[in-house]
Amino acid sequence: MSTAWTFEQARECVLAESRTFAPPQSSNSESVAILEALGRVLADDIHSDRDYPATARSVRDGFAVRAEDLPGTLTVIGEVRAGEQWNGAALAAGQAIEIMTGAPMPAGANAVVMVEHVTRQDANRILTEVSPKPGENFNPQGSESKTGAVVIAKGRRLTFADIALLATVGRTHAAVHRKPTVAILATGDEVIGIGEAPQPFQVRNSNSYSLAAQVHRAGGIPTILPVARDLYEHTRALVEQGLQHDLLLLSGGVSAGKYDIVEKVLADLGAQFYFDRVKIQPGQPLVFGKALGKLFFGLPGNPASTMVTFEVFARAAIEIMSGIPNPKLPLTWAMLTRDFRHKPGLRRFLPAFVEDGAVTPVGWTGSSDVPALARANAFLVANPEIPEYKQGAYIQVLPQQ
Ligand code: AMP
Ligand code: MG
Repeated sequence: MSTAWTFEQARECVLAESRTFAPPQSSNSESVAILEALGRVLADDIHSDRDYPATARSVRDGFAVRAEDLPGTLTVIGEVRAGEQWNGAALAAGQAIEIMTGAPMPAGANAVVMVEHVTRQDANRILTEVSPKPGENFNPQGSESKTGAVVIAKGRRLTFADIALLATVGRTHAAVHRKPTVAILATGDEVIGIGEAPQPFQVRNSNSYSLAAQVHRAGGIPTILPVARDLYEHTRALVEQGLQHDLLLLSGGVSAGKYDIVEKVLADLGAQFYFDRVKIQPGQPLVFGKALGKLFFGLPGNPASTMVTFEVFARAAIEIMSGIPNPKLPLTWAMLTRDFRHKPGLRRFLPAFVEDGAVTPVGWTGSSDVPALARANAFLVANPEIPEYKQGAYIQVLPQQ
């Protein structure tokens, strides 16, 4: 076995190798209807089809005026509503036009006085004490975006705000990257189907399902393969099947045990191994490499290890293959509600509960404790060089969401 890599080295390697599988500029894309586009990764820039706003628009109900005429009394010469435009003469000295929110500014006006700041003297005359600055209470033409400007850049995972923007610029469809297909291969003679009744020495296959959920969320299409027995031929046939997908995720069989045959199978298939140990907990034995032209991860079999190593490594590979050029871990900071210490040397991702910016470690028995992970909503990330954190100190957290 080679020496263990630091978390940063391993992550850098995953990003670099995955980038060789990033989709080319705008090929490998498909056109989807706007309602199918949420969460997909944009393959081509979206441009503004016109200026936004297309014409200067009032942001208040009130009166369009010439700022230099105020304070004082003005003659109201008409009104303009949203969905109309002022077709009369340009505003002259001493004149005002009643205007509604969203209505275009009449020519000659350079400010809007809010209706609340105006006293009506008679049907056609208003008095105001305010002296607006030119430009007040309206959005100039093109102040949100200019014709032809890129409003959504390719490589962005589309949010509901992007859906609004697609609709705004008149796009019924968007070009998005195809989703990578990801094979999931659990290994282990003790692992049985989730619909089966386990013997005391057996466990149900939770890893294939957590991984499928994580793959789905990362933007991939998961395919769950049958569980590989700890037998060379059976494992090899399934590994070969898995390597027909864009990415292969194995769980289990990568420790130093007598029946941990995953690495042997991969080596016999001519695999190149980038690393097989990383200084993290959970998840120290962790294999990343390439075989038959495809990337694979051999994730440790303990459920928490499988979930954590997917989150911090495999997720980025899938995101890159989905067209996101520079995926980031969604790390934030939270304040510890109690003292926390750990043995330095490993970067630890431990179950924790984050609420209102404060983080509390969740007690657990170790990497097989799935109930503890389900009581948590995040992982606290303990720095390998910091053995002790005081209550009230800030520590990094990685949300489960
Ligand atoms: P391994 O990495 O193969 O030594 O597996 C470590 C432990 O993880 C095993 O003893 C199992 O209890 C557990 N495990 C392995 N694979 C799975 C799986 N697919 N689902 C749930 N638990 C598993
Ligand atoms: Mg095993």
